Amino acid sequence: MKKIAFIGAGSMAEAIIAGVVKNEVVPADAIYVTNHSNEERLTRLHKQYGVTPFREMTDIQDVDVIIFATKPNQITDVLPQYAALPNAVIVSVLAGTPISTFETIFPNQAVARVMPNTSATIGESASGIAWNTKVTDEAKRWVTSLVEAIGIVQEVEEEQLHTVTGLSGSGPAYVYFFVEALEAAAIREGLDQTTARKLAVQTIKGAALMLDETREEPATLRERVTSPNGTTAAGLEALREHQFEQTIHACVRAAKQRSIELG
Ligand code: NAD
Repeated sequence: MKKIAFIGAGSMAEAIIAGVVKNEVVPADAIYVTNHSNEERLTRLHKQYGVTPFREMTDIQDVDVIIFATKPNQITDVLPQYAALPNAVIVSVLAGTPISTFETIFPNQAVARVMPNTSATIGESASGIAWNTKVTDEAKRWVTSLVEAIGIVQEVEEEQLHTVTGLSGSGPAYVYFFVEALEAAAIREGLDQTTARKLAVQTIKGAALMLDETREEPATLRERVTSPNGTTAAGLEALREHQFEQTIHACVRAAKQRSIELG
């Protein structure tokens, strides 16, 4: 049986724990959690998911995977404490913290760097994952199954994680902003807020499910619903006139650039 230790049991750790327990990737009693300053959260995690809070290194001597989930600025204090675990696979979900930071403490160990997004909370993250050269196929399979417990995961090179951050890491906020804009526009054009919200959210959800379930090209689905001179054609034309594609490119590029600056 594989054992996992979470260092920094906060929101992201909880999302992963919830998914791992729900999908029975490992039994709850094989999951160990620590949080240096939030005893209440540890107690709640124990009650809610059946995971084991730990305080001593001896409790986790034989873990197979250590998942670091503190804030990035907390990691330099945290890492040296775990140097005495030379066999575990290291997984980091920290934004902007390179694999090399972990390799200074774990030079001979497999390291995975994951960029999840907030939809992990409901098991719908779109995550990117990059590996160091020490990782084995078995470790890859195993860590991938852990990350799949919070959604889908795509393997990329480490440098590409900046673009992943610009696309899916920050992406949920772009979609929320799109919903805000749709809603505001619909209110200005005559709908009440409740009606506008319901229709906007279901439109995003329905379109995302159509893409996912039919596996059709987005352009094919778009063209299929766009009759010449029809209403959709008029709406799309307005988007093009207002530089929709260039705006989205600027958005993803700006987030990627910020990720590079922070990393
Ligand atoms: P969080 O603040 O909820 O959780 C971090 C926890 O780590 C805190 O509860 C803190 O008390 C604990 N901690 C700090 N130092 C510790 C130590 N020495 N020992 C044990 N515990 C310690 O933050 P979060 O939102 O869960 O984010 C965690 C990481 O996930 C961040 O690095 C972030 O970049 C990354 N991330 C989060 C999201 C997200 O959607 N929340 C998305 C992508 C990446």
